[in-house]
Amino acid sequence: MSNFIIKRPETIFNLFSSISKLNGVGEKRFTILKNKIGPYIINILFYLPVKAIDRFRNTSLRTIEHGSIITCDVEVVEINIPPFNFRKKNNISRIITFGLNKEKHIRLDLIYFGQNTQYLKNIFKVGNKIVVSGKFESFSGIGQIVHPEYVAISSETNSIPKIETIYPLFLGLNQKFISKLINESLKKIPNFEEWLSEEIMIKLNLPNWKESIIKIHNPDNISDCEITSNYRKRLALDELTANQISMLLIKNKISKVHIHRKYDANRDFLKELYNILPFKLTENQNVVVNEILLDLQSDRTMIRMLQGDVGSGKTIVALISMLSAISDGSQSVLLVPTEILAIQHFNTISELLKPLNIEVCLLLGESKSNYSKKDRLAVIENISNGTIKIIIGTHALISKKVNYKNLSLAIIDEQHRFGVKQRVEITEKGKNVNILVMTATPIPRSLALTAYGDMNISTITEKPKGRKPIKTYVLPQSKIGEVLQSIKRAIANEALIYWVCPLIEESENLDLIAVNERFEYLKSYFKDYNISLVHGKQDKLERENSINDFKKGKSKILVATTVIEVGVDIPDATIMIIECAERFGLAQVHQLRGRVGRSDKESSCILLYKTELTPIAHSRLKILKDTNDGFAISEHDLILRGPGEVLGSKQSGNIDFKFVDLHIHSDLIELARKEALNLIKYDKEHVKINTLLSIFENNEAIQLLKGG
Ligand code: ADP
Ligand code: MG
Repeated sequence: MSNFIIKRPETIFNLFSSISKLNGVGEKRFTILKNKIGPYIINILFYLPVKAIDRFRNTSLRTIEHGSIITCDVEVVEINIPPFNFRKKNNISRIITFGLNKEKHIRLDLIYFGQNTQYLKNIFKVGNKIVVSGKFESFSGIGQIVHPEYVAISSETNSIPKIETIYPLFLGLNQKFISKLINESLKKIPNFEEWLSEEIMIKLNLPNWKESIIKIHNPDNISDCEITSNYRKRLALDELTANQISMLLIKNKISKVHIHRKYDANRDFLKELYNILPFKLTENQNVVVNEILLDLQSDRTMIRMLQGDVGSGKTIVALISMLSAISDGSQSVLLVPTEILAIQHFNTISELLKPLNIEVCLLLGESKSNYSKKDRLAVIENISNGTIKIIIGTHALISKKVNYKNLSLAIIDEQHRFGVKQRVEITEKGKNVNILVMTATPIPRSLALTAYGDMNISTITEKPKGRKPIKTYVLPQSKIGEVLQSIKRAIANEALIYWVCPLIEESENLDLIAVNERFEYLKSYFKDYNISLVHGKQDKLERENSINDFKKGKSKILVATTVIEVGVDIPDATIMIIECAERFGLAQVHQLRGRVGRSDKESSCILLYKTELTPIAHSRLKILKDTNDGFAISEHDLILRGPGEVLGSKQSGNIDFKFVDLHIHSDLIELARKEALNLIKYDKEHVKINTLLSIFENNEAIQLLKGG
């Protein structure tokens, strides 16, 4: 999507004025704030408190616990302020007070270290009745507050906030400064025309947007700024509504027009395919195939997600869909994230289609190409003149240089590796392109809706018959000797083994060192056998040879980086070793583990961990050990690590929510969808929609709104 100047509704200009104009924000502070929070007033308003403190809960001095915040009325009875001494930095001043009213005989000391003594003398006088607020500590039996946060004459308690919100701090900016910025910003909020429907406002008894923002920063009660409050709920609903509007706009962009293309489900090659398949489709696969074929035959373009755990057999469903789509003479593409997977799919599919006399081509990036430059150009030419009907490839498929005669179906495999951008780009390669996205990371419904909108979803829940659950073991690295022993026995019994090496953060080169070292070590350990190596920096031929040797059983162990995470399908491999498993995401380990258990043989997966495990790391590995169900695993991931982990990095950018917590607000998603539909239908001038999208800085969607 090209650069684009965002035209926001005039009513919200104030919210997008620079925070550099706020009092006390000079150049230096502006840079800090801009980097940490954002440059605009709206960013400050969305900077949420981590908690609120009730300074007036009137806890009695008698029962107060060490460490809690207290606000109480006291009378000053004695002042011990040593003469100010520059050399002695830690001058201790002690103001002795006694509780007022019912607390009469209870002593509370106010302690100051190295404070300007004149200042203390000015504010404390024996006999003064004051209110103090701060953290209570009990020290040798005497209550004290060190550096009280607030001290006020009893008649002027207004200067102490009843409920104080506490913000995350950074780089020398303190609470009072941030509060001041926020309060100044709150004054700049205009009054909006309500964008939510009256129906929902009444049904959920919601406050308006302005009030909600104000109350989250200046709550009347502690509960006002808690995540379950009604104010928070209102803001979460707004955020979800903005999200759903974006999803609908994307969907409209993809599926705008009615089409008059019909697929011919009775073509011979479709029937023939079923005859030559080495297996029968499961019932579940049949259901899913039918859902897709119905979509293809309807007069709307399809946008469907096919989700099914690793090894559930999505590829064949994709192939049947592609053959159906091309039955009217049009073209189909299968877009995948990695070359290894592209090659794998190409091999499987061209093998299957050989007897049917249907030509398939593989298109990789220019430098990675399997063809000579000349042949590659010929392939691209044949794609554009429509001779080739089925095309499998990586990102090259959406490159500017590749054009299609009549693309009717695009299947995106391992969809979580792609972003919305690619989904839109591939549809722009043809007219009314049907979209099928496939994912092996089953996504909880709440996430699916926020990440994909109202895309239709097909799910494969059962695996092909005879599959046994993969036995998973979690062991410390120190047990590697025993692991090697058992591998030796397994190899003698014809087993093929994947050995995945640790992922070292953000450094492909370090990954390579680790994987090479392990490769050398295993080679010397298993002298009698061949061992192969595969990683991202090999050239194509080298990598293909490694995988082929392993596939044919010529080599017994395939040492690999995570390049094998998706797609690699070698049913004879039955053992998976993953080193430093604690460093991977749950979904990723589950995907890797899915490389085994692809036949009716028993399979196992050994997760080795290196470091002392934190309780969270421990519970994560335990989940993997206890369940083979990808759906359950991604639910856990969602709880433990948030949406980014579940959706993959490319997707999580879309749903980096500020107010929404998917556990607490998941029942708002459907409501938000209704609101979004409503707004798209009735807000003809797009003022409300634009306001909402602007507030949440959904800039890509605003662009779609403008028909960009
Ligand atoms: P994924 O859903 O992870 O992409 P694949 O499509 O790679 O799974 O299928 C996994 C394995 O299961 C492949 O070897 C495939 O040939 C096999 N398979 C798929 N469907 C069936 C079936 N109905 N019966 C038996 N094996 C099947
Ligand atoms: Mg697959």
